[in-house]
Amino acid sequence: MNMDAGTKRTLKPATELVHGGTMRSSFGETSEALYLTQGFVYDSAEAAEARFKGEEPGFIYSRYANPTVHMFEQRMCLMEGAEDARATASGMAAVTAALLCSVGAGDHVVAARALFGSCRWVVETLMPKYGIETTLVDGTKMEQWQAAVRPNTKLFFLESPTNPTLEVIDIAAVADIANSIGARVVVDNVFATPLQQKPLELGAHVVVYSTTKHVDGQGRCLGGVILSDKEWIDKNLHDYYRHTGPSMSPFNAWTMLKGLETLPLRVKQQTESAGRVAGHLACHPKVAKVIYPGRNDHPQADIIARQMKGGSTLVCFEVKGGKKGAFTTQNALEIIRISNNLGDAKSLVTHPATTTHKNLTDEARAELGINPGTIRLSVGLEDADDLIADLDQALEKVA
Ligand SMILES: *Cc1c(COP(=O)(O)O)cnc(C)c1O
Repeated sequence: MNMDAGTKRTLKPATELVHGGTMRSSFGETSEALYLTQGFVYDSAEAAEARFKGEEPGFIYSRYANPTVHMFEQRMCLMEGAEDARATASGMAAVTAALLCSVGAGDHVVAARALFGSCRWVVETLMPKYGIETTLVDGTKMEQWQAAVRPNTKLFFLESPTNPTLEVIDIAAVADIANSIGARVVVDNVFATPLQQKPLELGAHVVVYSTTKHVDGQGRCLGGVILSDKEWIDKNLHDYYRHTGPSMSPFNAWTMLKGLETLPLRVKQQTESAGRVAGHLACHPKVAKVIYPGRNDHPQADIIARQMKGGSTLVCFEVKGGKKGAFTTQNALEIIRISNNLGDAKSLVTHPATTTHKNLTDEARAELGINPGTIRLSVGLEDADDLIADLDQALEKVA
């Protein structure tokens, strides 16, 4: 079995996502095999010793590495242009591991304040508990990143586009500031997907995903992945990952491998539909505001043109009439379902103020642009005409 299958080719993304990283067993199976095993047996005591010493390649225990999970990691590396990766049980396991493995008590972390709720909790609440200092900044303002820097700053953390208001941060500019002080930049790239934005090419050092979202794309399994250069992973993540156990299950890795095969088709279609829905909502009399990274009226349209290849599968809009207007709309929808998930084949709406961002103070929500009428829509694979008709009939019920 060739464990580095495919890592040195330069094929187009769609091809890599079907073939990249595949390791076939002696049976020559077409579809990637699901190695649902905890451990591996050795031919001799000497072979076990050699494998533990790292003198002989091979798997030891699925908390460290597993063939199906390895195939998924390799395919993600090819997609991202990363040297190495570790797959995790969830997106939050990926974020937590990426942040905690590389800093310690006395270090300082700067993060953009517009973060996925649990990511913000890790930065604001968990890290300080272990003596890691943290500062939250408005990630769109480069002077705030610069001003937050201290002599002990080791890490910058951001997501772009952000959840739920689809704010866009200039990754290359943040990386420049980090590089000038020898800090590392970790980017949560979930909303952009690996197809629309390449943080490593923009100067970031580590990329994390919740593969629960577009990578699975069909609402089945939780997962996450951390990608970086081999040196960073060997030095920071390798031991942390082995000994704290955030590893992805082989079954979930197998599901994610199947998800990757159709990722480009799904993201393309969902982005196209999201663009149409955003255009329609922008002209709707019951809608006060639309934020969509594919539109010219997006506040950071110039940065988007530089750093993203396409728009987004998500649309953020504000219904007139505040919370009542937003709830009336959600409750009247017939095809689009209410759920806090995203990136699914099924279109989903969420009301951030009362769900995903309910733990923030009113001021913190206002700072992020999350208003009582704000709705986040994750556009799925349904026909865009049906989605627009569904939104129209629901918005009609708003007083
Ligand atoms: C969903 C999400 C996460 C967390 O991922 P889980 O798989 O739910 O643990 C982290 N960051 C962003 C931007 C997300 O959308």
